[in-house]
Amino acid sequence: MSELILGKAISESIYTELRERIESLKSKGITPGLAVVLVGSDPASEVYVRMKGKKCEELGMHSVTMTLPENTTEEELLKKVEELNNDKSVHGFLVQLPLPPHIDEKKVIYAIDPKKDVDCFHPVNVGKMLIGEPEFLPATPAGVQQMLVRSGTETKGKHVVVVGRSNIVGKPMAAMMMQKGDGADSTVTVVHSRTKDLPSITRLADILIVAMGKPNFVTADMVKEGAVVIDVGTNRIDDPVKGSKLVGDVDFEGVKSKVSAISPVPGGVGPMTICMLMANTVAAAEKARVSR
Ligand code: NDP
Repeated sequence: MSELILGKAISESIYTELRERIESLKSKGITPGLAVVLVGSDPASEVYVRMKGKKCEELGMHSVTMTLPENTTEEELLKKVEELNNDKSVHGFLVQLPLPPHIDEKKVIYAIDPKKDVDCFHPVNVGKMLIGEPEFLPATPAGVQQMLVRSGTETKGKHVVVVGRSNIVGKPMAAMMMQKGDGADSTVTVVHSRTKDLPSITRLADILIVAMGKPNFVTADMVKEGAVVIDVGTNRIDDPVKGSKLVGDVDFEGVKSKVSAISPVPGGVGPMTICMLMANTVAAAEKARVSR
């Protein structure tokens, strides 16, 4: 029987630790604050933004949700970013992506104060992470790393294969696993859509981290016996009974009996992303206190 690595349970234990840190900050008169800016009314983005606000409130954090109309200009959005950069009650904030096509996402991300960039998308923070001096860690890869650490998965000297090279998941994931230290020290290979004979490489993985956006792509023949598999993929597909359902990039049913541990979808990586965003916000509040 393979072990299930459940982000839901792991995130609960991290929230317990965060509550203590939040209480400690509050006892010193500081309430960690997270702001989320949403432009337009993309339904998936609205759900994420609501979830982030709800989690802040559950944790007793200060939460600001700024909803701006679809026709907001780039200049108006940059002004909001500047306001949040200067707002002392907001320790971290993010602008929910994707933005409407008339706004340059890069310009907006570059305008965020790196000390408040809790998504870790600003190039200064990406660079700091790469050289092993992180201000923050990007939420989804950090969540995966915590799942490995807290499930007792040894990463030192292990061959980690990351499937996918996006700026949000694959690239930072690979960069984090190759760092020196606990939960890392791995030998890392990254594969993508231009990789030749991908299964011959995924089969070498002691730890296989998949972030492709291709439902059930990774099948049992692509995985080494006894490997640990973390499935970041989140894909909604048709279901004859329920209408639709969420599945990962890994064929969970086919793969689970061959590996030593695997994360399911849903209930795997999903809950970790918001959890790590909250952790980054608490860390930002702690750092702001020290640097005052
Ligand atoms: P992107 O679409 O940005 O990147 C997908 C990556 O997979 C690309 O590098 C692409 O290669 C690679 N890829 C696609 N098809 C193949 C293939 N046939 N063979 C090999 N490689 C392939 O996606 P994201 O990284 O943003 O997201 C990946 C998945 O993770 C999605 O399902 C997304 O919903 C999910 N996700 C889940 C999160 C969570 O909180 N649980 C958070 C973020 C993402 P190439 O670069 O060559 O095109």
